[in-house]
Amino acid sequence: MGRKETNPNPSMKCGSCRDDLQEYLDGTLEKKTSLQLFLHLRECVDCQVEHDRLEGMFQLLDNLPDYQAPANFDEKILASVNYQRYRAMEKIRRERVPVYLEKEFLPAMVRSRVTRLAGVGVSILSLLGMVAMDLPILSGFLPLMVVAGVVPELLVRIQGIGRRVVLAQQSES
Ligand SMILES: [Zn+2]
Repeated sequence: MGRKETNPNPSMKCGSCRDDLQEYLDGTLEKKTSLQLFLHLRECVDCQVEHDRLEGMFQLLDNLPDYQAPANFDEKILASVNYQRYRAMEKIRRERVPVYLEKEFLPAMVRSRVTRLAGVGVSILSLLGMVAMDLPILSGFLPLMVVAGVVPELLVRIQGIGRRVVLAQQSES
């Protein structure tokens, strides 16, 4: 691409002339710019050559006979698609679990490692407390704490198991 300025007219440079050339030939260029380009072309041999080249190409394209797509065009395209690989990916596409088994179904609070660990911690401490105080199993709030503490961890684990079961069933069928 010869970008050397052979143009004495400062209103348009070769770069913008080339950029607008296609629109100029299409006749869609804004009038003022179109005139500037016309003037530039008169004085710039390089751009004139480019103009003629493009114009020739456009004429060639315009004169191409309309080509009717063959009747079985769609089928040929589809046949060229690698169906085996598409099939191979089927398992991935089908690996869907019910919404309640999606990780995101549980609130982030519950899923968070901190919540789960803290919960289990509370459970263990409550349990130890019960043992230390030698309390009967179902008295006071400590048993409740033992149960409540493990809920987040349990939820996450049960969900994980459910997910594994569903996916296992899917890959068998
Ligand atoms: Zn030029």
